[in-house]
Amino acid sequence: MMTFRCDGCGKEMHKGDLRYTVKIEVRAAYDELEVSLMDLVRDHREEILELIERLRNKDPQEIEESVYKSFELDLCPSCQRIYIRNPLRFHPEQGVDPDQINIDGFLRSLGFSQPKTPDETDLS
Ligand SMILES: [Zn+2]
Repeated sequence: MMTFRCDGCGKEMHKGDLRYTVKIEVRAAYDELEVSLMDLVRDHREEILELIERLRNKDPQEIEESVYKSFELDLCPSCQRIYIRNPLRFHPEQGVDPDQINIDGFLRSLGFSQPKTPDETDLS
């Protein structure tokens, strides 16, 4: 049986259980570049060689992560509720609100089912 592990608390979740996925992309943000004619005609060779020299002894993964890094997490319903309250200060050990709504039962009563997992996705 296919299982997932909550990345927050470690709880095992079975296929068909309500679970949440969190996709995080951390990318370098640049404002729109303004390229002038002078930029186009200028010789960039020296700058590029200097940049290559500075990067030569750096860890390729570190360089890549300084531009882009993505994460994908699986969360159980308890951790999802904690997570969405404050994604930057996620501490699953804080526990869950005992008055929580049974959203799983609610969604199922409306006819929603779990999204297909990648191995079930029809690729045709
Ligand atoms: Zn959890």
